[in-house]
This record gives sequence, C-alpha cells and structure tokens, in this order.
Amino acid sequence: MEAETSNASNDREERIKRVIKALFHASNCKDVDCPRLSCYKMKRVMAHFRRCKKPKYECAICKQTIGLLIVHCKSCIGDDSCTMFKCRSIHDWLRRVRERQAAKSQLDTFAVDVQQNVDLLQFDFDSLHIEE
Ligand SMILES: [Zn+2]
Ligand SMILES: [Zn+2]
Ligand SMILES: [Zn+2]
Repeated sequence: MEAETSNASNDREERIKRVIKALFHASNCKDVDCPRLSCYKMKRVMAHFRRCKKPKYECAICKQTIGLLIVHCKSCIGDDSCTMFKCRSIHDWLRRVRERQAAKSQLDTFAVDVQQNVDLLQFDFDSLHIEE
C-alpha cells in the first residue's frame, strides 16, 4: 500500500502554494470580518509590509513576504490584470535586478539568492508573530 508516500518536498510545495493562495485572497478581500484565519493573518502581514521601516532584507517577515511574491511572480507575467499584493513592484524590482547583472545591494543579492535557491526561504507563517 502507498498510503504514506507524501514526501517532504511535496508537502513543502503544497504549503507554499497554500500560503500564496491565502495572500492572493487577502490581497483582494474587502471583507473586514472575513472569517478565514489565513486571510486575517495575511492582512496583518500586508499591513506590516506597508508600514515596516526596516530594510527589507533585515526583517524576517518582509523577507518571507518577498520570498512568497517572488514565487508568485514566476507564474505571473505581472501585468495590470494581476491583483496580487505588490505584484507589479516585485516584478519591476526583479527586472531591475536582472538588468543590473551584478547585484550590489544586499536586497539585490537576496533576490538573486531566492531565484537561484528557493530553499533559502523559511515559510514560517504558522509561528509568525506580527508586532502591532
Ligand atoms: Zn478574506
Ligand atoms: Zn518588516
Ligand atoms: Zn501577479
């Protein structure tokens, strides 16, 4: 019997897909009383991201969010029809990083790392603490 064949990397991919879906839902959700817990969490993440003053590569929450968005951008052309949170700006940013070839800032290096090695990311949203 093959009941126990779910392997770790598949689980991980599924989990990332689920988190991206939740982020996409929250990006478009106008319901302040939305009953989904994942939506509530993602709205907090988005609010943090907009407000956070730290350099993005120094903040664990922002870094994870960017990581998720980079994964999203791989399957999205980034035109106006996409309603994902920050989709356009991440696309523009990745394009700039690619054009510049030699990554200079830490954030650029981070983008290159993420593109080359998605395992760099820790999708730790279950234990995520969002400060007020
Ligand atoms: Zn919602
Ligand atoms: Zn942050
Ligand atoms: Zn998109």
